[in-house]
Amino acid sequence: MAARDIKSLTLKELEEVLNNLGEKSFHAQQVFSWIYQKAVADFAAMSDLPLGLRRVLKENFYIRGLKLRKRLKAGDRTQKFLLQLTDRNLLEAVIIPAEGRVTGCISTQAGCKFACCFCASGLLGFKRNLTATEMLDEVLYLKDYAPQKRLTHIVFMGTGEPFDNYDELLKAVRTINSPQGLNIGSRRMTISTCGIIPGIKKLAEENLQVELSVSLHAGDDKTRSLIMPINKKYHLKELIAACRYYIAQTNRQITFEYILIKDINSDLQNAINLSKILRSLKLCKVNVIPCNPVKELKVEPPEQEEILSFRKHLLKSGLNVTLRTPRGEDIEAACGQLRLRYEK
Ligand code: SF4
Repeated sequence: MAARDIKSLTLKELEEVLNNLGEKSFHAQQVFSWIYQKAVADFAAMSDLPLGLRRVLKENFYIRGLKLRKRLKAGDRTQKFLLQLTDRNLLEAVIIPAEGRVTGCISTQAGCKFACCFCASGLLGFKRNLTATEMLDEVLYLKDYAPQKRLTHIVFMGTGEPFDNYDELLKAVRTINSPQGLNIGSRRMTISTCGIIPGIKKLAEENLQVELSVSLHAGDDKTRSLIMPINKKYHLKELIAACRYYIAQTNRQITFEYILIKDINSDLQNAINLSKILRSLKLCKVNVIPCNPVKELKVEPPEQEEILSFRKHLLKSGLNVTLRTPRGEDIEAACGQLRLRYEK
């Protein structure tokens, strides 16, 4: 029998498997702790398990399915990883350290079909959905390289659209959240969507405390469709209505991401349009981020003066706004850039 990824099993399932193998089921809890809390990738190193059990586990399971292809470290301590799946598809994952927190940024798909104009991930097209265990692999890889081997927050903001792979995403979220898994609080996880309305509505009904972030990047349909083709399917009016529904159902705030791109969405009229459409939402904040320049995509950030006047208008209209600086600029920071270098 071919070895299986042990992370595809819940704790209960592993207990049953151990039972069937003639082992004590309570060892499942120890195995989970080694894999998820101590980020150990080798059964032989699980020193509190009987030697015979370690052998049995090695014969029947594997722990990590991803291979490290490249690791880059930026001056601001951001680390970017290019990881290879068992079918040789590539994905990116990132560690972003900041004051009091270490965030792991996770991909949910190999490639992306949504082709946002500022993002390198869509340039090579869509390959396939990741499984929940592959997402967990990413988290464990990042945990291994994180300061003190500890991640405090997880964002599903890497390659791919999380809601286009909803069921596997939710499985991964539940294991990351579970006390026997990675034990990271659901409020410390953020799911970021390009605006898939059915996903927003479905998440609203899950009774989960995860954070939702919506990539907006424009306050009118014409500009948004230019930046994000998904807007031709899910128009702004319906998207904002779905966000209103999410807030009403969950009483949770939504973060709207707004990447500023020179000559496309960064002038005062764009700021006015944005504040108009967000005004009606009770619980929201806006992250404004100048884009990372990507040669292949011909996008550039606006001048500092324009960035500041954009933010000033949003603040004046009563929105809660944070101006973020792009991270890891010296290491192919834009989403998908590193993979693009290796796969094209
Ligand atoms: S921003 Fe997200 S949805 Fe848009 S192309 Fe990039 S990965 Fe896909």
